[in-house]
Amino acid sequence: MFPTRKYALVHARLIEAGVIRPADCVEPEPASWSDLALVHTAAYLAKMRDGTMSPEDTAQLELPWSPEMVEGFRLMTGGTIQAALIACFGTQRPQSAQSQTILAGSAGVAFQVVGHLGGGLHHAFPNHGEGFCPFNDVAVAARVLQARGLERIAIVDLDVHHGNGTAFTFEADPRVFTCSMHQQHNYPMWKPRGSLDIGLPDGAHDATFLRELERALPAVMAHAPQCVFYLAGADPYEDDQLGGLRLTKDGLRRRDRLVIDAVREAGIPLVITLAGGYARRVEDTVAIHCATIEEAVLASPS
Ligand SMILES: [Zn+2]
Repeated sequence: MFPTRKYALVHARLIEAGVIRPADCVEPEPASWSDLALVHTAAYLAKMRDGTMSPEDTAQLELPWSPEMVEGFRLMTGGTIQAALIACFGTQRPQSAQSQTILAGSAGVAFQVVGHLGGGLHHAFPNHGEGFCPFNDVAVAARVLQARGLERIAIVDLDVHHGNGTAFTFEADPRVFTCSMHQQHNYPMWKPRGSLDIGLPDGAHDATFLRELERALPAVMAHAPQCVFYLAGADPYEDDQLGGLRLTKDGLRRRDRLVIDAVREAGIPLVITLAGGYARRVEDTVAIHCATIEEAVLASPS
């Protein structure tokens, strides 16, 4: 079962704790079918739109098809697109009455961080969905930016699971640098090669993770991206039900700070998505995601 409760809890907690104000939040529009077609095949989108997926398709997606499911994930993809547009251009599409929320910083500066309280659907491939991910929101948003003239993009994926769909999507596009650091012996079995893949051993702790990340980030920034997407999965956490790494909450917060600082030093826009998080106690997942946003706010130009 895909845990959707965390999104509302993260939003509520951030407001309650005064990390963000309601006025900082923007309600996105669902991604258009033509935006989705920048990544996904026409045949796959037709199946999603018309509900003509086979039992094998839904088994692989691990979600039952319904019009609400499709609309929910179109909205989630729209949130990442909009976060990317605000981060890079300071533009917002008109508001809607939907339930997704993004946090918007001030526009018109070089380093700008915008968080989408959702997204990070990195297991979606152009022609099929997998592992709770019908559409690859970050891949679609990267293509939207490219269509608007931003060529060089980096994707830093620190979810405990390899970003298989993202790596596959950009395999033949040297303009997009995909970096995934993940638990090697975990889903997905097949890990298409990204620009930089770091498979960590089972049970890796904070020190290993942070050391590898410190080595990886200069390679990412050497690509000279014009925008960085960060998938800040909460599932490398030691008490995650789907993860086998042993990061503490403090280690995860230091992870976030390393990524944010590297992008800030480069002076380019940063788009944060939450990605996975399946701690035994949902409060832990919520606390980890909130810490990511808190670090982003602390780093934001005032
Ligand atoms: Zn994950």
